[in-house]
Amino acid sequence: MSFVYGPVPSRRLGQSLGIDPIPSKTCNYNCVYCQLGRTRLLTNERKDFFPPECILAEVESSLTAHKSGDIDCVTFVGQGEPLLCHSLGVLIRRVKAVSDLPVAVITNGSLLWQPEVQQELQAADIVMPSLDCVDESTFRTQFRGRLWVEVMLLQGVNDGEPALFRLRDALAFLRPDQVHLNVPIRPPAESWVEPPDEEGLMRAVAILGEAATVVAPYEGSFDLSRNLPLGEAILEVIQRHPMRQEEVLRTLSDLPSSVVETALAELEAEGRARRVEFRGHVFWRHTTVPPADNPDDTEGQSRRGRAMSS
Ligand code: SF4
Repeated sequence: MSFVYGPVPSRRLGQSLGIDPIPSKTCNYNCVYCQLGRTRLLTNERKDFFPPECILAEVESSLTAHKSGDIDCVTFVGQGEPLLCHSLGVLIRRVKAVSDLPVAVITNGSLLWQPEVQQELQAADIVMPSLDCVDESTFRTQFRGRLWVEVMLLQGVNDGEPALFRLRDALAFLRPDQVHLNVPIRPPAESWVEPPDEEGLMRAVAILGEAATVVAPYEGSFDLSRNLPLGEAILEVIQRHPMRQEEVLRTLSDLPSSVVETALAELEAEGRARRVEFRGHVFWRHTTVPPADNPDDTEGQSRRGRAMSS
């Protein structure tokens, strides 16, 4: 089991070493826009899915293996909701004890109302919740680190004026350090999900900007230039994060594009990666991620034809 990945470039955190303390797609939400597909284990119960000492051993070994300057931030970000990890506070404190790096936690925010969760997060430097859920206001009064709220904008769901004004009021109450707008640029769990059009995005920037500093969405990229075989390096990233083919090629621009395309074709032939078309772009995703209910996803269509949405 691998609990650590990267470092990968993050537009918000620099070179980020990711720690994933929970099993794949374990979450207390089942968001329609989730790029990991539909939730497999829907649970609100916090527990240790893996022994914390195993996670810590891998984190420490990874920190030792990288030289100073390779990593800007250590980030707890699960293939689901990392606050479901019962020992998260212990893990954060241990990372802080063995390194000077800032620690960030990316969360859907749904458990922030729990006093024990609030206590555990006090050791983190940056907490990055989504705004879909909250009693984050209570958390804000105690947390002294940086609070960066993410808002996922969906066309026809929260990109109209009434929804944006409600979000603006919630943000004014919450007083985050920054609001990061995001849009579903990768294949979502449900095919009807659409990003806002340009007007919706501009509306969001304008209205939410009345309450907080807004960072507009931007398509990030990943560094795959680690010492792994090319196919394995690609798989390690697309397991957590479907990537546009152009993004893969751009990130690996030191290599001839034919080499990268061959590696992708081999992964597909081996049944380890899947090519998905979404909004006119080719994406690559790991085959452990279930196909989206996506009309552009021909494999998803044939699976539904056989098994009515497996
Ligand atoms: S987007 Fe995040 S919170 Fe929503 S289902 Fe996916 S992992 Fe869970």
